[in-house]
Amino acid sequence: MRKIILSFLLVTTMATSGRLLAETRSAGKHEHGSSSVGIAVDGNDMAIDLDGPAANLIGFEHKPSTPEQNAVLARALDVLRVGDALFLTPPEANCRMVSAGVSPPEFGADGHSDLEASWEFRCGKPSALQWVDVQLLAKFPGIAKLATSIVTPAGQKAVVLTPGTTRVLLPRPASGLGSAP
Ligand SMILES: [Zn+2]
Repeated sequence: MRKIILSFLLVTTMATSGRLLAETRSAGKHEHGSSSVGIAVDGNDMAIDLDGPAANLIGFEHKPSTPEQNAVLARALDVLRVGDALFLTPPEANCRMVSAGVSPPEFGADGHSDLEASWEFRCGKPSALQWVDVQLLAKFPGIAKLATSIVTPAGQKAVVLTPGTTRVLLPRPASGLGSAP
């Protein structure tokens, strides 16, 4: 259900703000070094998904054929499952991961495969959720560029994160809304 809502929001985002998002979150495009993340906040819920070439996370895109490759894959999946360490949020927002959807890539015959993952968080005080610090670039040096799109009730934006810039500021409510002390 959440996945459906997130997909809907992302489709809506792409439809409404056009070129920028189309460039930064190029769905379906497989470019080594580039991954994409979508962050959707709705009430107390935050849903995040990740998509991109498996090579960005594990360094290869074929079925693991050695114990070392199996270990690399298992380690990457373990890191991905700890969403609380991948996506840091303001402590006062009191966000906790409630579920993670992480599974091995479907290794295809064409030599390329993608690895997708998703997480759901619940935030005790969403009004304090002003930023998300994305640690994917630090944990996975194979990601050089992370196209990030954000949808919240206050608006939407798209940014490209690089190893030097990991923090996404979430759209703030329009003036007159949410500005009370
Ligand atoms: Zn590839």
